[in-house]
Amino acid sequence: MSMLELRGVSKSYGQGSAEVHALHEVSLTADEGAMVAVMGPSGSGKSTLLTIAGTLEEPTTGEVLIAGQPVSKVSGSAKAALRRRVIGYVFQDFNLLPGLTAAENVSLPLELDGLSARKARLAGLRSLERLGLGERAAHYPDQLSGGERQRVAIARAMVGERRLLLADEPSGALDSSNAQVVMRLLHDACKDGGMTAVVVTHDAQLASWADRVVFLRDGRVTDQTSPVPGPESLLTSEPNQ
Ligand code: ADP
Ligand code: MG
Repeated sequence: MSMLELRGVSKSYGQGSAEVHALHEVSLTADEGAMVAVMGPSGSGKSTLLTIAGTLEEPTTGEVLIAGQPVSKVSGSAKAALRRRVIGYVFQDFNLLPGLTAAENVSLPLELDGLSARKARLAGLRSLERLGLGERAAHYPDQLSGGERQRVAIARAMVGERRLLLADEPSGALDSSNAQVVMRLLHDACKDGGMTAVVVTHDAQLASWADRVVFLRDGRVTDQTSPVPGPESLLTSEPNQ
């Protein structure tokens, strides 16, 4: 089943001579369990694509389907529920609340969704542990390294069995080994947990964790690979003769 589908999605901002076409007729499908990487130069529409896929913005034309449902036909409250329960979003700048601990940041979406504080806290801890941050649960964001903050943001986006993870350069603030760890985690959550992920990245080596890479330029999909060999294949391949 396709978890996310964009059908001929275009997005323009502004009007007249100031009009910017951020996306042109972008079509893209991510099946359940797939990990799709999105690459492209700055300004090519990567963040716009993710915010539209995440129902945070509406396309100017075209349609977004989540788990087969056209988002334009979903009521406002059902859309809000989708964003609370189904879609996890990792923002480029993390968006952690500085006055809350790592555990409180991660469990907040579940509490806002009406889960009891105790259940939300347990689920939050599980999500942190999954990202190797169990020991850091009581720390505040300013007591964590950049890499740890990044992983807290990912734990929050994955908490409560979300099925669609949208991540805007989730490894942007990480050194290369931590970035690999994060991509492997997302990869494993897709392969073992049936999550679907769309991940924007600048780095071709990180993108190779994905099943497929979609290339954007000037708001258009210029190319798609399918499927790319994972980094494991580099480790097992024979050196050139
Ligand atoms: P990327 O993430 O690949 O760097 P973006 O999706 O952020 O690209 O932007 C694509 C284009 O749309 C850029 O030209 C950008 O300036 C423009 N754009 C994005 N968001 C807005 C907005 N809210 N208002 C006006 N223009 C925007
Ligand atoms: Mg961007």
